[in-house]
Amino acid sequence: MTYHDVTILGGGPAGLAAALSLEAQGLSVAVLERAPQGPWAEPAFDGREIAMTHHSVSILKSLGAWEHIPQVAISPLREARIETGRSNHPLTFDTQGRGVDALGYLVSNHCIRRSLYLAASRRPGISLLAGTSTRHLRRIGDEMTVVHDRGEITCRLAVGADGRFSQIRRLQRIGAVMHDFRRAMLVCRMAHDVPHHHVATQWFDDGQTVALLPVNGGASSIVLTLPVEQIERLRTLDRDAFNAEIMERVGRRLGNMRLVSTRHAYPLKAVYAHRFAAPGFALVGDAAVGMHPITAHGFNLGLKGQESLAEEVGAGLARGESPGSLSVLRRFERRHRLATMPLFAATNGIATLYTRDEPAFRVLRRAGLRVADAVAPFKSMVTGLLMDRQRAA
Ligand SMILES: Cc1cc2nc3c(=O)[nH]c(=O)nc-3n(C[C@H](O)[C@H](O)[C@H](O)COP(=O)(O)OP(=O)(O)OC[C@H]3O[C@@H](n4cnc5c(N)ncnc54)[C@H](O)[C@@H]3O)c2cc1C
Repeated sequence: MTYHDVTILGGGPAGLAAALSLEAQGLSVAVLERAPQGPWAEPAFDGREIAMTHHSVSILKSLGAWEHIPQVAISPLREARIETGRSNHPLTFDTQGRGVDALGYLVSNHCIRRSLYLAASRRPGISLLAGTSTRHLRRIGDEMTVVHDRGEITCRLAVGADGRFSQIRRLQRIGAVMHDFRRAMLVCRMAHDVPHHHVATQWFDDGQTVALLPVNGGASSIVLTLPVEQIERLRTLDRDAFNAEIMERVGRRLGNMRLVSTRHAYPLKAVYAHRFAAPGFALVGDAAVGMHPITAHGFNLGLKGQESLAEEVGAGLARGESPGSLSVLRRFERRHRLATMPLFAATNGIATLYTRDEPAFRVLRRAGLRVADAVAPFKSMVTGLLMDRQRAA
């Protein structure tokens, strides 16, 4: 049996960020990750390009992770366009008048994971345990015991960070609202002849949704949303046929296109936990709030959540309260609910409105874009939300 102040269950980007933030509060932290050491430390490309706000970048800088991301892997996002159907009236967002050169930054998920792992592995107060699965959690008095397949850890706070289909959430008997969009996303990188000028496009076409995310090196990340069976067909389609089909699907707007990465598919299921806190226990990352990727906020909110948790734990320590005290964790829960609930609901609404093909939905979304583009305060608010420059470096 070993002791750490905090045990994090799940060493993904949210769990590792939480470990770094809580260690910075002077706590000793263990991180238990199910994956073996190799892929944990050096994760492979998984197709996800994460659009990060300015606030998220400032968090990664303060955690010592940003410096481990190679400059060439950071692609600035200068403008975002939203289009619907074949009508030529896009809604656009840019940085004009905001004193910065980018709305946000695109970084591959595996680079973010690697940078956080590297930062955590250099902290004396963090122990990283790879290849370790949690069996159950027990609370006795003020302590939590985490029973895993290689032994036991006692701690004052256990944090569930094992992703949206969280087993730890179930072990703690915390329910969740789950929204199944009955669609999947195919993601991959493609090189192309026509330059993207660092403009991202989200196109809600009839029968499909396509996002083109501009990355460095004359390439874009393609994010295609379709019914599950069609995504599976495309994922395994022969390369030449795949290139030809994607060129057609994006309306040939990027010229000749060539697949330059592996292809990955993700089911579209959004999750919101009924509670984020229990005595001696908290949920962070997708285990707490698993967003539909359409508004690119999942990881940004995961970073905010772990930041709120560490700040509330730090404030509690200053008052002499334990990191696992329910009053400390309830403060975190309130903050995180306020930060996430409106966006979660709005994102699900947008995802439904923009992916249904009945005539009423088509008319509504075209009208919605025209109105939104004409209302300057609305555009300004959305741009502010996309950038999230609160306390940015
Ligand atoms: C296609 C796509 C595009 C996206 N784009 C964006 C974007 O542009 N912007 C944005 O902010 N977000 C985006 N997201 C969301 C973002 O990827 C997630 O929010 C983020 O990866 C969640 O991190 P996490 O650490 O909570 O969970 P995960 O990344 O799922 O990590 C969970 C970790 O826990 C481990 N684990 C699982 N079970 C156990 C267990 N029982 N015991 C121990 N370890 C366990 C897993 O091996 C894994 O390492 C996107 C998501 C997708 C699918």
